[in-house]
Amino acid sequence: MSLIDRDRAHVWHPYTQMQTAPPPLPIVRGEGVYLFTEDGRKILDGISSWWVNIHGHSHPALNAALARQASRLEHVMFAGCTHPPAVDLAERLVSILPRGLTRVFYSDNGSTAVEVAVKMAIQYWINKGQAQRTRIVALHHGYHGDTVGAMSVSGDSIFTRAFSSLLFPVTRAHGAEVEQTLASLGDTAAALIVEPMLQGAGGMIIRPAELLEAIRRACDRYGVLLVADEVLTGFGRTGRMFACEHAIVSPDIICLSKALTAGYLPLGATCTTDAVYEAFLSHDRARTFFHGHSFTANPLACAVALASLDLFESDRTLDRVTRLEAQLQSGLAPLRALPIVADVRVIGGVGVVELAGSGADPSAPRDGYLDEIGPRLAAAFLDRGLLLRPLGNVVYFMPPYVITEEETAWAIDQIAQVLMESAAIRR
Ligand SMILES: *Cc1c(COP(=O)(O)O)cnc(C)c1O
Repeated sequence: MSLIDRDRAHVWHPYTQMQTAPPPLPIVRGEGVYLFTEDGRKILDGISSWWVNIHGHSHPALNAALARQASRLEHVMFAGCTHPPAVDLAERLVSILPRGLTRVFYSDNGSTAVEVAVKMAIQYWINKGQAQRTRIVALHHGYHGDTVGAMSVSGDSIFTRAFSSLLFPVTRAHGAEVEQTLASLGDTAAALIVEPMLQGAGGMIIRPAELLEAIRRACDRYGVLLVADEVLTGFGRTGRMFACEHAIVSPDIICLSKALTAGYLPLGATCTTDAVYEAFLSHDRARTFFHGHSFTANPLACAVALASLDLFESDRTLDRVTRLEAQLQSGLAPLRALPIVADVRVIGGVGVVELAGSGADPSAPRDGYLDEIGPRLAAAFLDRGLLLRPLGNVVYFMPPYVITEEETAWAIDQIAQVLMESAAIRR
């Protein structure tokens, strides 16, 4: 039996309608920006394996760091124990994070990094004697993960609808309404959570730095904690190490995962200020932050994260993102002229081509995740050796930063050709 047949017999894939989805790609090897299939195909990973990869697949320096750590210590529980990779990584993160973020709480994926942030914010206010501050404010179109708390603070969407009975109430606002929303909540607001600069799964929507600044000012005015979910944007994706740097804003809590380990291993970090941390210090054990996971601060993951941060320096990784951004800007701009294209936008290493909706009004953008065109385009890209996974009518290209100028030009060319052909597919 082939790998695909054996997969089909027992495996249930994420975000996949198992009845209608095409068979999964049988990937047996990765190198740089390429993935290799069991049947000998070479595919360019145009979405960084769900937004996690940055230095390319199976990078020699990262492989070596992983092997070195595995030969010393693979894992130990993190309650009552510590180890060099976790301490080294915490020091390293604090040295590069936005000012004031000095305390690192580890977990093991992006959703849990968000769960930790939400629980931290709520208990912070209880510990401060303001137990009435229980309300979380979030933005429309936000995406913060798939666990119940992370779904609660995410925008209402097809992803969360079946679980609405489980979700806790959240106040949602559009960017421009934040000030007014916080004013109306008064002293019941605990925290506001935002994806700085780029709302990812909600449709790859780029937001201005001024919005982030205005949100920071509003949070300061009403004494509300600002949580920056940089699970996607952290580690260079928007062109700066952290997206908050576009606005020179420091949040009270930042959530990190995805590229933290360069896409190697699951690791999350929720980092905060001394002020938040100190609210949990007490002789009263009830004030303890009771949260933890079996694989908190896994040493293998921490070791790879450290090696990744070394590469940011030795490989001048952020310069690569700057060059990639310029090439995406100039390369994708001509697509604006296609009638099927509603918008083209670029930030850092993310190039987005939003297609006009296929609904009643063909010029209406944001037809949504279920737009039939997404899977059809994905198949057409794959035929050409390019792995993309459009969010409905939102096509985006987000490759590992090590991609070369020639490879980027080739990918843009494939996108252009498929979109030109798809004017026909659509009819
Ligand atoms: C992907 C993502 C998450 C969830 O991370 P997982 O590791 O998939 O659980 C949270 N927030 C943002 C902004 C994300 O893009």
